[in-house]
Amino acid sequence: MPSAELITIGTELLLGEIQDTNTRHLAKIIKDINIDLFRITMIGDNAVRIADLVKEALNRSDIIITTGGLGPTVDDPTRDAMALAFDTKTEFHPELWQEIEQRFLRRGMIPTENNRRQAFLPIGAEVIHNPVGTAPAFYMQKGNKIIICLPGVPKEMETLTEIAVLPLLKQLYQLQGIIKPRVIHLAGIGESVVDAAIGDLEKLSNPTVGLLAHPGIVDVRITAKADSISAADLMIAEIEKQIITAFPNKIFGYDSDTLLNSVINLAKSKSSTISITCFGLDENWPPDLFASFQNTLLLQKLIQPHNPLQIKYDHNCSAPLQADCSFAQLDGESKMEFNLITKEKSQHFSNLYNGPSAQGPTWAVNIFLETLRQTLIILE
Ligand code: ATP
Repeated sequence: MPSAELITIGTELLLGEIQDTNTRHLAKIIKDINIDLFRITMIGDNAVRIADLVKEALNRSDIIITTGGLGPTVDDPTRDAMALAFDTKTEFHPELWQEIEQRFLRRGMIPTENNRRQAFLPIGAEVIHNPVGTAPAFYMQKGNKIIICLPGVPKEMETLTEIAVLPLLKQLYQLQGIIKPRVIHLAGIGESVVDAAIGDLEKLSNPTVGLLAHPGIVDVRITAKADSISAADLMIAEIEKQIITAFPNKIFGYDSDTLLNSVINLAKSKSSTISITCFGLDENWPPDLFASFQNTLLLQKLIQPHNPLQIKYDHNCSAPLQADCSFAQLDGESKMEFNLITKEKSQHFSNLYNGPSAQGPTWAVNIFLETLRQTLIILE
């Protein structure tokens, strides 16, 4: 499997003035086509330092992809940096200059002398034509290694990756299609129920559909093999539609989404405040739980001990939804109880847990969060 490194170029990235989203996009695509990603580096607009980094990267990895620094100004260093790294100079490409001029003229503008810089490429570079911007991209090869230089503007980088970079890498490294996963997260439903409902899908060979159970959560993983990302996306969408139809209220998120974030986002979208009181779970709540809740409209309290049946709506608390949750492990039996209370009604829930005791608290948290989510969905 070939190895790759990504280099994102731009002093404004280093200074934190803009956020790097390009490498996140590229990392995902690289993984999808079965290339090992070894390293991602961010570097400022300095041609000498970039050239040094590129030389190092070429010693370590097969494929280097850079983004940024292809604009028309003096501080757009990528072309010069690549020339330095390959111990050569840049040369003028009249046909590129013509393309750039025509692009400007079509928009009723005249290119400046600065724009001529974009028609210079390192000697030995192959052009990647850019149909969505003025900065031509390019690649250079050294033995069986390749360095590909893409523009920084995300839309341009994404388009060139899809239309030029992926086909090029597949051809050079004989990569057989792409593999794309999609994970759908369900809560409030058991693995066996999911399995019974979508057992037929689990027998498919492409895309494949598999289940992974966590305490209180079931992941459905769809993996498609296809010639392009868009073809894989279509295959995945077809299966996803069937899963949404089978479990309309149980899906709380996709891929890196978490149950906690889905509750927080839902509360934000409803501008709702929740007061949460937890008993017996203090050390087992996800560590980011209270911090996340504090940053949103949610409130929290920690009190113990309590009698779950005596919890009442607290009129001194401004939160319209008040919740409490307790979890206890006694004599091999684990029990969680919680109340969800609004001014209008109070609901008491009680669940017994029979799974591995180490996973009990995680299960309790997930059951609690899922019930909170369902309550928020219907909260006015
Ligand atoms: P162009 O010539 O089309 O401007 P470029 O290659 O010169 O492209 P840069 O000048 O480095 O690109 O960046 C142009 C803009 O693209 C930046 O101002 C920023 O908005 C965005 N950009 C650059 N790099 C990244 C990145 N890694 N992640 C997200 N956005 C980026």
